[in-house]
Amino acid sequence: MSNDFRDDAIVLHVKNWQTADKYAVCFTREHGKVRFIVYGGRYPKNVAGRLLQPFTQLNVEVIAGQRIDKLKSCELLQMPQAFDFKQMAYAAVATELTAVFTEDHQAQPEVYQLLAECLLLLKERNPRIVVLSFALKLLELTGFAPQVEACVVCGKELAEEDVWFSPLQGGVVCNDCHNATGEEKFSIGTRKLLANLKELDFQNPQSFSVKGGELMELETALYKFILFQTDKPLNSINFLAQMGL
Ligand SMILES: [Zn+2]
Repeated sequence: MSNDFRDDAIVLHVKNWQTADKYAVCFTREHGKVRFIVYGGRYPKNVAGRLLQPFTQLNVEVIAGQRIDKLKSCELLQMPQAFDFKQMAYAAVATELTAVFTEDHQAQPEVYQLLAECLLLLKERNPRIVVLSFALKLLELTGFAPQVEACVVCGKELAEEDVWFSPLQGGVVCNDCHNATGEEKFSIGTRKLLANLKELDFQNPQSFSVKGGELMELETALYKFILFQTDKPLNSINFLAQMGL
C-alpha cells in the first residue's frame, strides 16, 4: 500500500538539509503533521524550495520513502502574510506550538483550520492576544488543556474568587489546597479572560476589554504550563521574552 498523498499544508518549519536539500515540517488539512525532504530545495532555481517558507499555505504532493518522505511537487495556495516583526514573532509561536502538540499523520482538520485562521487574524488584531487564544484552543483540541473549572488537588468547583494556578499539576488550585511554591496567582478576572479567549471566534472576533495584569497572569501561567508539558523551552517563546514582546 502506498502512503503517497496530496493535501493542503501550512509550513511550520523549514531547515537546510545536507548540501542541497531542505527539510520541512508542515501541518496538513487531512494528514496531520508531516515531514519531508525537498531534494534540491536549496538551489536558487528550485521552485518548491523557494515556496517552502514558514506560514505559507501550499498544496503538496508527497511520496512515501523508506526512511523519510519526499516532496514531489507543490503549488502555492496562500502567500505568507506580510507580517511585521512582532506579528512574525507571534506567528512563530503558533506554528511551533502546533508542531509540538500534534502527532505525525494524525488527521486533525480542525487544527489546520484553527492555524490558518490564526495566521490571518494576527494581521488584524493584537497578535499577543490572538496567539494566547490560539494556544488555549490548540491545547483543547489536542487534549492537553489545563483544568480550570475545579481544583486539581481536591476537585472542588471554584467559586467566584481569586485562586492559584499550578503549571506542574496542570490547572487551578483552590485557596484551601494552595501551599506549594511555583503556584501562580490566578485571579477571577484572569479566569474570565481565559474563558473569553477560549471562545473567541477567529472568523468574526467579538471585542472585549483586556486588562494588562490579567493578560500577564494568564500568559505566565499558560506558558509555564506549556513548558511542563513539552519538557523543553520553545525557541519562539524564548524569543518573545528576549525581545520584550
Ligand atoms: Zn482544592
